Amino acid sequence: MQQFENAREAALALRPDDPIYCFRPQVLKADARQFMGMFPGRTAYAVKTNGEQIVLKALVEAGVGAFDVASPGEFAAVRAVSPDAEMLYMHPVKAQSDIKLALEKYGIRVISLDHEDEITKLTRVVRALDIDPGAITVFVRIQTKGSAAYELSKKFGAGPANAVELAERLNRTGYKVGLCFHVGSQIEDPDTYERALASADWVRNRVSFDIAGLDVGGGFPAEYGHDPNRKQIEMPSLGQIMSRLSGDLKEYQFDQMPLVAEPGRVIVARCLSLIVRVLLRKGKRLYINDGIWASLSDSWTGKITLPARFIPDPAIRSRNGEEKNIMPFKVCGATCDSVDILSRPFWLPETVDTGDWIEIGHIGAYSLSLRTRFNGFYPDTFVEVTTPFDEGDAPQGFASLETMAD
Ligand SMILES: *Cc1c(COP(=O)(O)O)cnc(C)c1O
Repeated sequence: MQQFENAREAALALRPDDPIYCFRPQVLKADARQFMGMFPGRTAYAVKTNGEQIVLKALVEAGVGAFDVASPGEFAAVRAVSPDAEMLYMHPVKAQSDIKLALEKYGIRVISLDHEDEITKLTRVVRALDIDPGAITVFVRIQTKGSAAYELSKKFGAGPANAVELAERLNRTGYKVGLCFHVGSQIEDPDTYERALASADWVRNRVSFDIAGLDVGGGFPAEYGHDPNRKQIEMPSLGQIMSRLSGDLKEYQFDQMPLVAEPGRVIVARCLSLIVRVLLRKGKRLYINDGIWASLSDSWTGKITLPARFIPDPAIRSRNGEEKNIMPFKVCGATCDSVDILSRPFWLPETVDTGDWIEIGHIGAYSLSLRTRFNGFYPDTFVEVTTPFDEGDAPQGFASLETMAD
């Protein structure tokens, strides 16, 4: 992989017409180690956030020894970078053939579910393969209520009373039984984990046996850009959230059992930025070479503020306006699809023009893992960059949360 000091250097050297991912392995390793240092249990990275081989490999090098996986594709991706990393199969709804593959070929022994039919499927496979149920830890996923930018509890999770029944049934069959929840992604309310712990406590107090562990899922918020037009929502730092979570775990007496977290976004968000080119400026619109069907679907939802840095093309000799005047531009994506327009404008210097580049920062999570081949566009070029996005000039621009009239 070609190496550059920063994205500006890469853009000026390569003059890329295709989007370029700027990968910062040192930032990734530092963010992973920071999380592992703060969480009082095991860290299982959620592969769906970003399952690129270079990312998984760097995480293994950073000492991440466990991965939250959901599909055969993810089992294989983890095995390809590590012969002995532990995998936790935490998708509550699974194909029976995938359960068999997980247990038989990949040696997976940790699994989650939220329904009795999933117990039936699992037990059928366990019997067929003649595995002792006592070698398997089954986490019962419980429903949570809370506030996150992306809510998931409407889709998965057993209500507390049902969770007690599922846990009892699993225990009778001989499995080790844990409890897990996933509060959704990018939590916006620091009380979220406490509410989930209270539910887990309710279930734990009603089962007739000792539970084998607690998995607190993901949801830990990553840092994004700041929109100066908007009052900043006061979100505590990761350190504050973690010390609060550790305190709550003690208070509910979960601290004496094996603990797991499944962070995704908070670990990978900062390790990638994206260089896009302005293919055309048409008035207050910018047509770029990426979009919602490629790396920017998470920003399309309009829930996060991405920081952006202007990389003017030095070949453009005359410009209109002042670089210090920042104004909103509507950003149109690369495909011919009329919905491929970012829902929020990018604020950039008024001088931005056809041929310039924009570096969009903190795009490591839920970006390239969601890209499609729609319309024949599939960004897949990577360079390594040594300077963290947050160092160097402050980002001039940002993808705002304000809407913009046409
Ligand atoms: C997506 C997911 C995660 C990761 O969530 P982040 O908000 O990215 O940390 C963790 N656990 C489960 C079960 C998930 O589905």
